[in-house]
Amino acid sequence: MKRGLGPFLSSMDEGLKKIREQFLEDLRAVTRAEDATALKDKYLGRKSGLIGAEKKRVGSIAAESRAEFGRLINDLSREVEEELARLNEKFAAGQETERLERERLDITMPGTRQRLGHLHPITLLRQKIEDIFVSMGYSVEDGPEIETSFYNFDALNIPVGHPARESADTFYISENLALRSQTSNVQIHAMQRRKPPLRVIAPGRVFRRDTPDPTHNPMFFQLEGLTVDRNITLGDLKGTLEEFVHLLFGPNIRTRFRASYFPFVEPGAEVDYLCFVCEGAGCRVCKQSGWIELGGSGMVHPNVLETVGIDPEEYSGFAFGLGIDRMCARMYDLDDIRLLYENDVRFLEQFA
Ligand SMILES: [Zn+2]
Repeated sequence: MKRGLGPFLSSMDEGLKKIREQFLEDLRAVTRAEDATALKDKYLGRKSGLIGAEKKRVGSIAAESRAEFGRLINDLSREVEEELARLNEKFAAGQETERLERERLDITMPGTRQRLGHLHPITLLRQKIEDIFVSMGYSVEDGPEIETSFYNFDALNIPVGHPARESADTFYISENLALRSQTSNVQIHAMQRRKPPLRVIAPGRVFRRDTPDPTHNPMFFQLEGLTVDRNITLGDLKGTLEEFVHLLFGPNIRTRFRASYFPFVEPGAEVDYLCFVCEGAGCRVCKQSGWIELGGSGMVHPNVLETVGIDPEEYSGFAFGLGIDRMCARMYDLDDIRLLYENDVRFLEQFA
């Protein structure tokens, strides 16, 4: 509530009345917070404030009116302070409104789509293959990618002087260390760690000094398989891989074995499976042959079993190595295997 300052002042003191009128006029002209601050200095400033200056006039006021004069000055000071405080509040509220307006969220605006990643096609296929072998009683093993000559060659019945040990084929790190040229090293580690019966698979990267082309890359993915038990025969090997392709591609997909040579198996065989697209009729994917190569396989060589202290008279086993990348390239009809390693998002996002 306003005090009845005006009428009283007009009868009491012309000077204070003029200051008040000037203040009210100045107040109406204020448009910014800075103006309000300037106004405070003008009227209430300690050194040059107009109201302060009035106080100095008290000596010229009649003694009986001094108390009343002092009260009027105090009232005027309070009124100026209150008006300015109100003004400041108004500006502060305005700034808050402005801030809120500025920061307002339009929830109807289209959002930014978050890109969700997914697994690499090789990883997807590898997991699928792992699941199949795990369902057949295999455990998944891991092994070192940097390997000694013992695990990479010697224990696999690949003697010194064998062409597979040539530095033209193998990435040597030192005389005795190399990037593994096959996942077969895991066979040796597994047989050293555990006694038969053994059923393990070992997916992983292998490295060979191949010149990159549409069907070769110096790094690729293999899946090693090993079974060692009493009375394991070639029939078990054939049955296992046949079951595997049935589970991966369907019941019509058969396998065929072609005699071949790998130092760590005897006998050895290349394994093909019936083309999953044409089922043998011949098409672009199988290059009209009706068959697709699965990998190498064979019965574990007695020398390999002996090296890890397993008696080949008591135990026998089979092993196989599948090329995951090549299988992946056929399944997705890729004409260049290198697409799988280049990590070009435009290529990879097709497999979401
Ligand atoms: Zn075909």
